[in-house]
Amino acid sequence: MRQVAIYGKTGVLEERKSSICTRRENDISCERESVSGAVSQRACVYCGARVVLNPITDAYHIVHGPIGCASYTWDIRGSLTSGAEMFRNSFSTDLRETDIVFGGMKKLTSAIDELMENAKPAPKLIFVFATCIVGVIGDDTEAVCRIAEAKYGIRVIPVKAPGFSGTKSLGYRLACDAIMKLILPHANQPKRFGVNILGDFNLAGEMWIIKGYLEQIGIPVISTITGDSSYKTLIQAPSATLNIVQCAGSSAYLAERMETEFGIPSIRVSFFGIEDTTNSLLRVADTLGKPEISANARKFAAERTEQILPVIEKYRPHLEGKRAAIFVGGGFKAISLIRQFNELGMEAVVVGTQTGKKDEYEVINSLVSCDTVVLDDANPAELERFMTEKKADILVGGVKERPLAYKLGMAFCDHNHERKHPLAGFEGIENFVMEIHKSINSPVWEYSRN
Ligand code: SF4
Repeated sequence: MRQVAIYGKTGVLEERKSSICTRRENDISCERESVSGAVSQRACVYCGARVVLNPITDAYHIVHGPIGCASYTWDIRGSLTSGAEMFRNSFSTDLRETDIVFGGMKKLTSAIDELMENAKPAPKLIFVFATCIVGVIGDDTEAVCRIAEAKYGIRVIPVKAPGFSGTKSLGYRLACDAIMKLILPHANQPKRFGVNILGDFNLAGEMWIIKGYLEQIGIPVISTITGDSSYKTLIQAPSATLNIVQCAGSSAYLAERMETEFGIPSIRVSFFGIEDTTNSLLRVADTLGKPEISANARKFAAERTEQILPVIEKYRPHLEGKRAAIFVGGGFKAISLIRQFNELGMEAVVVGTQTGKKDEYEVINSLVSCDTVVLDDANPAELERFMTEKKADILVGGVKERPLAYKLGMAFCDHNHERKHPLAGFEGIENFVMEIHKSINSPVWEYSRN
């Protein structure tokens, strides 16, 4: 394995060199497949598709593949529901060696039949995820789904997502295509004043918080995609006047398709931190073009900011000067986190994402200092090296990054799908500040580092 020196040290694969930079270089290679053997932190194509579709609360999810792929369930990507609970189950065709040799289509047909016979309440919507081995043996998943749709008169939508066929971003795209398949037949419905929220998965009830803000300032929410959604609410999405896109990585493509097919414009938003939450509320209100709603948004944001500022001021002296490492899924969230740390007087010294885009990395570079290390599609060795080198006090990441931080004796904040309290909106700001404070200033790190 060939290694080269970056920043005066060895330890980074040559093929990864262009995906790591500082503000001085401001030229990062991204939106490309992971380097073989680099042990990327990224999830696979199937996982990308599943994370977007799984929160649809009354959908049944059949994983057509070996049982291992089905271990990716609600339990590790928990989103909350105000209605159905079907999405908390996972079904698998459990493909074995003989199925690989003779094909798995009969098994998939039987799995759908079994669900239709036994599942309560009766399925209205089934997603069939074809994973790696199905991509290799070439089962005609689409044909099985088409036949099942005709037989049962319900929607059975194939998601051909072999893990090896690209990056997690491709999985997002496949999920967006599946949603379009679901809602396209409902394109012709009268327009209503209101928005769809795209790219929020209702982790710890965050969708409810954002929806509540919009409703308080006079903006009806027509459909939530996909947090706390259902078949019935999703198919109303074509009637909305505006799409607001929270997680651009997973849902920008869906917004583009909805603009083409239904004429719904979109804007990107982020509800993490005071600055981004305030700006997002004002931009949504202003885009809708009703002065009274814009005035409501300004009043609401000013009141909530006034309430939250004392919390920031209380904890800021305990956090000022601390150094943070960020490794999250998309660039938009990383940008919000850098701003949140700046509000607390902290510095982001390492910033990485799994699927960031060129324009997002440009914004990241404009917000950080000259020496901050910016990484696309990092692996644990790189994260360990740069977090150590930059003397990070805390890592903000997800379930895959948590053990890395703890092994290094470093504080950690889960900002991904395992979080148990909301981190979005004004409520989320308080939770975030408290969590960062409790973790970073815990006395345990002194013992673990000595
Ligand atoms: S990489 Fe392939 S085998 Fe592994 S979870 Fe993803 S789809 Fe399944």
